[in-house]
Amino acid sequence: MTAQIRQFRCLDDNFGVLVHDPATGATAAIDVPEAAPVLAELRSAGWKLTDILVTHRHKDHVGGIPEVLKSFPGARVHVPHAEAAQIEGPHLSVREGDVVKVGNLAARVIETPGHTVGHIVYVFDADKLLFAGDTLFAMGCGRVFETPADVMWTSLQKLAALPPDTQVYCGHEYTLANGRFALTVEPQNEQLQKRVKEVEALRAAGSFTLPTKIALELATNPFLRAPNATIRRNVGLQDAPDAAVFAEVRERKNRG
Ligand code: ZN
Ligand code: FE
Repeated sequence: MTAQIRQFRCLDDNFGVLVHDPATGATAAIDVPEAAPVLAELRSAGWKLTDILVTHRHKDHVGGIPEVLKSFPGARVHVPHAEAAQIEGPHLSVREGDVVKVGNLAARVIETPGHTVGHIVYVFDADKLLFAGDTLFAMGCGRVFETPADVMWTSLQKLAALPPDTQVYCGHEYTLANGRFALTVEPQNEQLQKRVKEVEALRAAGSFTLPTKIALELATNPFLRAPNATIRRNVGLQDAPDAAVFAEVRERKNRG
């Protein structure tokens, strides 16, 4: 049986996500930005929390964990091994290639250093689901705080290589600002123009713009499109390595 998912708003622009296995009743939260909305969503779904899958140690991803554990003291907290020492409370550390079981569902861990040095993402291969945290956003990527840009580029390439129809859930609703920036890098991209219009309409209606899909990101996300000749020409780096083109696009976003 396939995973059931609930996505909801937390804090200002974070997402909470629950992944539920109907066969066993197991339920995972992907990060816990704050406790109240996660507990409310569990209650309204009638689900019991068994696991928390942490992508990275930033407060807006782990801040609600202690409070949620008061209601679900038996829930296992899975955290990136490289950040385990900085995350409070009992937890299990996981690394590249580890598989976290949520009931009968299986989440494979991929390490994606860049935004933080220990950042990980979770892929449910059977359901073609990616929980990307702050590594990949719709038409964007996380700020590269803790590694050189080429390390983040390599991390993003791991996600770009997932099946094109993989659904992608992200840590934040940043899509509209990302899309507007993407148009400054590649104004000629017709699919991007169309997508930004759709995103404007969704946001105007108060709707979420996520999840997205890998194929759509490959076509419209400038942070995955360093090999693209038009983007290279637009940023004046026709003959540079892909990682250098990525670094330049990231720099422009940081300044913007
Ligand atoms: Zn973060
Ligand atoms: Fe975040």
